[in-house]
Amino acid sequence: MRRKLLLGNWKMNKLSSEAKEFAVQSKPLVALAQKNNIDLGVAPTYLSLATVKENADKGMIVAAQNVHFKESGAYTGEVSIPMLKEFGIDWVLIGHSERRGYDNETNEKCNLKIKALIENGMVPVYCCGESLSTFEAGQTKEFVEQQIRVGLADLTKEQVKDLVVAYEPIWSIGTGKNASVEIAQDICGFVRSILRDMFGEVAEKIRILYGGSVKPENIKAYLSCPDVDGALVGGASLKIDSYEGLLKNIL
Ligand code: PEP
Repeated sequence: MRRKLLLGNWKMNKLSSEAKEFAVQSKPLVALAQKNNIDLGVAPTYLSLATVKENADKGMIVAAQNVHFKESGAYTGEVSIPMLKEFGIDWVLIGHSERRGYDNETNEKCNLKIKALIENGMVPVYCCGESLSTFEAGQTKEFVEQQIRVGLADLTKEQVKDLVVAYEPIWSIGTGKNASVEIAQDICGFVRSILRDMFGEVAEKIRILYGGSVKPENIKAYLSCPDVDGALVGGASLKIDSYEGLLKNIL
C-alpha cells in the first residue's frame, strides 16, 4: 500500500512571517494526517525553509523548490544540497514546469539533480507534464515518457524506491482548467508503466502525484484513481483553511 501524500507548492509566495504563521497553524493537521496514513508537506521559498521547519510539527515534510547539483562553487544565486541538509531539509521539487519554462531546466539537468539528491539520501519530487500544444497534438505520452526516461536515467531500482513523481499538465497549472480524472489516471498509470519498464517491481512502491488546479472540491476524485497517490497543490495550499480542506476531503 502506498501512503497518500499531500504536498503544497508555495512558489514565490509568503513572507517568512506568513510562512511561520501557517506552520504554527498546521500543527494539528499533521497529527490528523498521520493518524490517517497520509504524509503532509509544503515547499516554501528558500528563505522560509528554516522557519517552517522550526515552527511546524516534526512530521511535516518541508521541501525546497529547487537545488543545484554541485556541492559548492562559483554558481551565483544557487543553493546546494549540503546547505539544505544543514537545515534538516531532505525533500526537493525537481523540474517543476515553471523552472523548466523560465529557467531552462532540462531533463538532463533534472537528472543530475535527482542523482545528487538520491546519493545524499534525499527525496526528489520529479515533476513532469506537457504543454497545451503537446496535449492538443495528442503527444502527451511520448513527451512525458521522454521526461521520465531522461530525468531518471542511470538510477538503480534500489535508488528509486523513495522517489516521488508528480504529473502536472502545464495547461492545468494555476489556470483553473482541470485535467479530467480520466486523463489524470491515464497519464499517472502510463508513468507507472514506464517506471515498471525501467525499474521493475519497485514501480509499485513509487508514489505518483497529480497536480494542476487541485482544490478541496476535486481532490477526492483524483485520489480515488488507482495510480494517483497524492496531490501537488499550488494555489489551494496557500491558505490554511483551504489546505485543511484538501486534507479533510481525503481522510
Ligand atoms: C503547482 O504549482 O505545482 C500547481 C499544481 O499549481 P496549482 O495547484 O495552482 O495549479
